Amino acid sequence: MPPTQDLLAAAGNTSQETEFFNPVPKGYQKGRHKYVAVFGTVMSGLGKGIFSSSLAKLLKDKGLTVAPIKMEGYLNIDSGTLNPYRHGEVFVLDDGLETDMDLGTYERLLDQNLTRDNYTTSGQIFRRVLDKERHGEYLGRDVQMIPHVTGEVKYMLRDLAMKQSADVIFVEVGGTVGDYENGFYIEALRELAFEEGEKSVCFVALTYVIEPHALGEQKSKAAQLGLKKLMEAGVQPHIVACRAQNPVNDSVMQKIAMFSNVPMQRVFSMHDRKSIYTIPEEMRKSGLDREILTLLNIHERVKVEQEDDAREKWRSFVNVLTGKRRFRARVGITGKYAALRDAYASIDKALEHCSAHLSVDLEVQWIDTTRFDPSEASTKLEGVDAVIVPGGFGVRGTESKIACVQHCREQGLPYLGICLGFQMAVIEFARNVCGLTTAGSTEFDAKCPHPVIDILPEQKKIEGLGGNMRLGGKDVLITPNTLASFLFDNARSIRQRFRHRYEVDPNYIPQLESHGLIFSGRHPEHPIMQILELPTHVHPYFIGAQFHPELLGRPLRPQPMFMGLVAAAIRHANPGTPAEQISTRWLPPPSKKVEPPVSAGA
Ligand code: GLN
Repeated sequence: MPPTQDLLAAAGNTSQETEFFNPVPKGYQKGRHKYVAVFGTVMSGLGKGIFSSSLAKLLKDKGLTVAPIKMEGYLNIDSGTLNPYRHGEVFVLDDGLETDMDLGTYERLLDQNLTRDNYTTSGQIFRRVLDKERHGEYLGRDVQMIPHVTGEVKYMLRDLAMKQSADVIFVEVGGTVGDYENGFYIEALRELAFEEGEKSVCFVALTYVIEPHALGEQKSKAAQLGLKKLMEAGVQPHIVACRAQNPVNDSVMQKIAMFSNVPMQRVFSMHDRKSIYTIPEEMRKSGLDREILTLLNIHERVKVEQEDDAREKWRSFVNVLTGKRRFRARVGITGKYAALRDAYASIDKALEHCSAHLSVDLEVQWIDTTRFDPSEASTKLEGVDAVIVPGGFGVRGTESKIACVQHCREQGLPYLGICLGFQMAVIEFARNVCGLTTAGSTEFDAKCPHPVIDILPEQKKIEGLGGNMRLGGKDVLITPNTLASFLFDNARSIRQRFRHRYEVDPNYIPQLESHGLIFSGRHPEHPIMQILELPTHVHPYFIGAQFHPELLGRPLRPQPMFMGLVAAAIRHANPGTPAEQISTRWLPPPSKKVEPPVSAGA
């Protein structure tokens, strides 16, 4: 981040001489980058992220380069400390930033990896401003919300535009218009529109049309008031998108158009849909993308051929997604936050993609392991065709999770262990196969006699293991002739995203391997175990990952470990059905016997 003097110089003025504070990164070309800002009115939870990412996808499909950014109102520096119960899952980016689940929606819909430049919080912005103040970078001026904090916001947006060579930046402002927390974002965007000039910034107001049960009709008043609030802040929306349960009727749309100065062809009904993946096409049909291109004057940047191809691929995915499925199966997911789907949003989505590709009606059964005794595990798993033990922290429910793993291993029930679920599988195997009955993790018991999962002193120096979390995208070396290698199409190395502190103690690796556990994914240099599995002649599908495969599940590129699990679940639910009718790509051929690999560095 350049010092403020540079920003002022770049803007061709100093703060003393003029009221304009227009921080522009060096080399920034005005007019090259366009902005779409999405605000929510009336209430939160309207799906601004889904709206914004669907629209961004439509433009990306047209050959434009898009860069989304989520601007959060809260003071936390990132989402790492947020409770998934309150805020949904923590989504980890490749560069290690812990963000919220909306970034997952963007990555999935755009099929594009994002970086820490695509996310900010008020906390981050204030910290940057205060750091500059301490370094004397404001030339003796009093530091104010306007122009300095808003200036930081504008700088950040322009910087993102340049770094990602974006034709269009999609700015999603967290919270609702009228909130205390996000007022300065709205002001910054108003200033940005003024500075960038005509046809450079498009304001979209997402609003909500209520339909009170007792009245049985749609009412526009709440939406009107919400839009008025935005206009009071000096922002005249160009587009109004009306969220509603049912298609919004014409007279309500007319009222909204009239009271918000937005012509009818720019007021859209964005009512609830069966699947969010149908939204881009609905937007296109209603002409929303063309309105945006006109408002930003970028019709000539569209590449028509690319658009046809992208649309066709997406359409065939949506067709299978919304069409009739050939199979039925049930997947059990154990978890402390089992009551809240948002805490496992990416797992839910990863399964959704796979179920479409494999044409299966997948029922997800959430199993709260904090509510039953380990001895009840088998009963709790009755009727499920596969089990996922997802990531988690802390000891609650872990004994029942270990019992679930044991049931899967012994009964040949397909199993996918993710992060904590990987560690549970190691503990279960150590206890019940290797005979280390007191095996455990030092996360749950610091004095555990056989800490097969531990933080190791010599590892603490490596990649932030230890007090800090090991975070973000890392390479994983795959052992040939393993289930992992089959799933990842014989790749020697894959890149996956991590978020953990503990790992397998390398001292136990020889013992685990000699009893038949295979570590088929490893750190390229250090003895850090990243994928485990049982050979397929022993178990139809038993695999675990120290990373979070769900974070890389994309609609058109479903995640291989999930594909394998879902295919195995279908086979479990339909024992007589030949593999060719399910999927030979995702069902490993009945086992060639695999020799356990020699352990690296153990
Ligand atoms: N609690 C475990 C660790 O820190 C697992 C983390 C996770 O599942 N994300 O290593």
